[in-house]
Amino acid sequence: VTIKRHVEGTPKESDFEIKTVTLCLSIDSGCGDIIVKNLMVSIDPYQINRMKSYSSSHETISYAKGIVPGEEIEAYGVARVLVSENPEFEKGDLVIGVITWGEYSKIPSGRMIRKLEPMGLPLSYHVGFLGFSGLTAYAGLFEICKPKKGDKVFVSAASGSVGNLVGQYAKLFGCYVVGCAGSNKKVKLLKEKLGFDEAFNYKEETDLKSTLKRYFPDGIDIYFDNVGAEMQEAAISNMNTHGRVAVCGVISEYTDSGKRAAPDMTSVIYKRIKIQGFLAGDYMHVYPDFLSKTNDYLSVGKLQVLEDISYGLESIPCAFMGLFRGDNIGKKLVQIAEE
Ligand code: NDP
Repeated sequence: VTIKRHVEGTPKESDFEIKTVTLCLSIDSGCGDIIVKNLMVSIDPYQINRMKSYSSSHETISYAKGIVPGEEIEAYGVARVLVSENPEFEKGDLVIGVITWGEYSKIPSGRMIRKLEPMGLPLSYHVGFLGFSGLTAYAGLFEICKPKKGDKVFVSAASGSVGNLVGQYAKLFGCYVVGCAGSNKKVKLLKEKLGFDEAFNYKEETDLKSTLKRYFPDGIDIYFDNVGAEMQEAAISNMNTHGRVAVCGVISEYTDSGKRAAPDMTSVIYKRIKIQGFLAGDYMHVYPDFLSKTNDYLSVGKLQVLEDISYGLESIPCAFMGLFRGDNIGKKLVQIAEE
């Protein structure tokens, strides 16, 4: 699956194409490359920033390199080794790391990939909530926002891959948690299945500042921002003194280059609010801690796993476009092939 052209605005069916290319299974002896059969890939909003033209007005389009139309698209996922010229891997090994939106990938030596021991868990868990989505939620909440018990936490895109985990971790830590999402079905799920204290459908609200005032009459201590723009402004205007804002993503701005958050900086100063952007990849040092706590919660049934899987390589464009329509509930993944 590749892009035909650089994507502008919201991604459309016609931006994508499925190409058939032949991958030679014989690789130079000792070159360090491996060839894998892809099994499961992650579908992530940030990919859209890689699909935009380099001449876009963004100075830094994305923290990952741009995608060239017609070329393969790298993505995080799980695969099975078919041919190995790398001493670290053997034929038949399961691996996790940067593969591609394709049936097979040739992975050059040095690319981020490691052996995976599934520990009896579904592969989707490793790609999703035990992978970067989970680490993002964990690092953003605990490392950036440093919650205290009883803190009042607001999460946007709360039924999504990162957002649902932020809310669940914050609840388990003893915070008061409100989430927003784009449908009543999602709102119900947040309150009834995931244990959020409150949730609302942002598409039904006309004045987000007053909406948040209603849900947080005593102010917000922590805002975990997944969406940017108006929601960021509304949340910041309702923050308490010494509030913390983790700017994880600004999905509403990815498809609309005219949208930008413009929070009131005077109140940021007077209230000494900390606003910090972050990348999960900078927090690999907390990965062991994240994994052990998350596995503990999972084993005692305290954490709900929310994932949304489509099947078949052909479903990738639709799965990806669906992120910007709010189709997904939880982590969006595509299973390309059976184990
Ligand atoms: P999600 O699973 O949350 O999927 C995206 C969701 O965003 C949709 O389901 C939709 O839910 C919501 N959404 C889409 N368009 C809009 C819009 N215009 N306004 C408001 N909400 C919208 O994706 P992820 O959990 O993977 O990612 C969430 C955010 O975190 C993204 O911004 C992403 O870029 C960022 N991210 C950042 C990382 C980092 O290291 N900093 C790592 C991973 C993700 P709804 O129905 O509620 O609208």
